[in-house]
Amino acid sequence: MTTYCNFHARSIADPTEFWGTEAERIHWHTPFTQVLDDSRPPFARWFIGGTTNLCYNAIDRHLPERGAQEALIYISTETGAERRFTYAQIFAEVNRMAATMLAMGVQRGDRVLIYMPMIPEAMLAMLASARIGAIHSVVFGGFAAGNLASRIDDAQPALIVSADAGSRAGRVIPYKPLLDEALLETRAPQPKVLLVDRGLAPLPLFEGRDALYADASAPHGDTIVACAWLESNEASYILYTSGTTGRPKGVQRDVGGYAVALATSIDYLFGGKAGDVMFTASDIGWVVGHSYIVYAPLLAGMTTVMYEGLPVRPDGGVWWRMVERLKINLMFTAPTAIRVLKKQDPALMRMSDLSSLRALFLAGEPLDEPTAHWIERALDKPVVDNYWQTETGWPMLTLPRGLDGIDIPPAKLGAPGVPVYGYQLSVCNERTGERCAAGQKGVIALDYPLPPGCMSTIWGDDERYVKTYWSNFLGRVAYSTFDWGVQDGDGFVTILGRTDDVINVAGHRLGTREIEESLSRHPAVAEVAVVGVRDSLKGQVAFGFVVLRDPARAEEAMDRLALEGELMQTVDRQLGSVARPARVLFVGLLPKTRSGKLLRRAIAALAEGREPGDLTTIEDPGALHQIRVALGLAS
Ligand code: ATP
Ligand code: MG
Repeated sequence: MTTYCNFHARSIADPTEFWGTEAERIHWHTPFTQVLDDSRPPFARWFIGGTTNLCYNAIDRHLPERGAQEALIYISTETGAERRFTYAQIFAEVNRMAATMLAMGVQRGDRVLIYMPMIPEAMLAMLASARIGAIHSVVFGGFAAGNLASRIDDAQPALIVSADAGSRAGRVIPYKPLLDEALLETRAPQPKVLLVDRGLAPLPLFEGRDALYADASAPHGDTIVACAWLESNEASYILYTSGTTGRPKGVQRDVGGYAVALATSIDYLFGGKAGDVMFTASDIGWVVGHSYIVYAPLLAGMTTVMYEGLPVRPDGGVWWRMVERLKINLMFTAPTAIRVLKKQDPALMRMSDLSSLRALFLAGEPLDEPTAHWIERALDKPVVDNYWQTETGWPMLTLPRGLDGIDIPPAKLGAPGVPVYGYQLSVCNERTGERCAAGQKGVIALDYPLPPGCMSTIWGDDERYVKTYWSNFLGRVAYSTFDWGVQDGDGFVTILGRTDDVINVAGHRLGTREIEESLSRHPAVAEVAVVGVRDSLKGQVAFGFVVLRDPARAEEAMDRLALEGELMQTVDRQLGSVARPARVLFVGLLPKTRSGKLLRRAIAALAEGREPGDLTTIEDPGALHQIRVALGLAS
């Protein structure tokens, strides 16, 4: 049996052979003439001259064999809706949407901005854009007007697809007023607007600009729109990063490389096969949604489940009942969701029959050991962490689950895994780019060229792409992930936090993640954020902000003090007293981005008495108030 190490080495030693073979997984309208063009670093082009189409590969190609198989199952616990589409039905719907877009003047290469709640039409709009060769740019539904306006400025869409409203925890969030405001604010040319009316909120229309989808699509019920055959390296979409560290970057993705990378990853990494049911509990406004709600499952002929709602509403059993009823085989979500579930009774999971489920995949934030143990025990299924970024489009680190006949190393808790085939990943010195020895901390970097599926550039700004990602090391052209990590002798990489979040306490460099991990081992802790705060004596000290599983434990000042002491001792024991937080403060909620990432930089700013900076992607501004209260800055 060959080892995974050999398999990985083969993908790096001869990328032309490796990816040339993998490319056979998708349909090429015209074959490519060259697998890789690496003549212009740091830019890489894959499958040069080949023409293909994402929508064709996701839908049309499956029609002969799977026309009657479900392609999409949509469930909303917000509205009670359940809608199912076979491949044949989704083909018809996507064609109707594509014909409507064409009729509204959208042309190949135009941008289509999708500002939608989690409804099937959001996915149809993505696939319809892909079909006609338009470039979609999905913006999280419900983002504030200012956010939306800056993305409209950047992408300059010809069309915006939106809806009357989203819904969250039973509360209707009207989108149209936000959209109207954004369109007043933007400097970009005014786009056309196509609106899906869910009947949740008023939907006033601007004559000449806005159209209702039901009306505009009525004449196109039976139209079939030919696929636009795009050269592999043309743009398929723009997607903005989560904005955890500052101004979001408009990641531009290609067509052919992305299709091949996803088709390969769903098989090799996730073990997904045609006919399987996959439930990715994420938002389509995030890269996980693009890759593993929409494109990868459909490229593979699977059934994808799209969900609008919370993991705990009506109760913490809702996802697991879905697993039983829909016979879900693969599930993918973020650790944040599991930490929310952790506050619930695990018996809720065991009440459902989970026998169809093969594994749960998690990505997006560090998976702390206690949470990993908890969910693994509660489900009694493999839990697989994977590490990646909007920029890469698919995982960089994990333990592959679908490489039959290849010897995969056993999991190590706390580390997402080993470098994925195609990625030349290393931990290196943050200044020189020199590779670190095993056990030594540094920046996680990727060598040129990035594998297929990764970003082509920053939309409209090649220079920013080169400067941001490829110009961080003195002696080496390499891509910086801006994440801090450590690799062990077996190749396993542990993520220690973002490079921005590294704390320097009296000359010791600590990733915030290390201290968070340690605090989270205390049984009273549900969630924790650690930030570095300037200190005149030590340079920097760590502050820990803790959400308790039972908030009542920190109601009395004496209890708080006692608990603070216990938590500090936990860190002392595990990491030594240098890592001990100067303060541990209790809050009910931590500030996060819409995609569930901790906004440490905003917390740190408040703790240092500064303004929190760019908060455009924050989920709940109320969380910042709690930080202020905990710091004694507000009451
Ligand atoms: P921005 O780049 O705008 O600041 P962001 O980095 O949060 O935002 P994303 O691309 O959505 O935007 O998130 C990728 C980041 O999430 C990674 O760089 C890493 O910091 C973190 N991350 C993702 N998966 C994992 C994981 N499995 N373990 C630890 N961290 C992870
Ligand atoms: Mg990032």
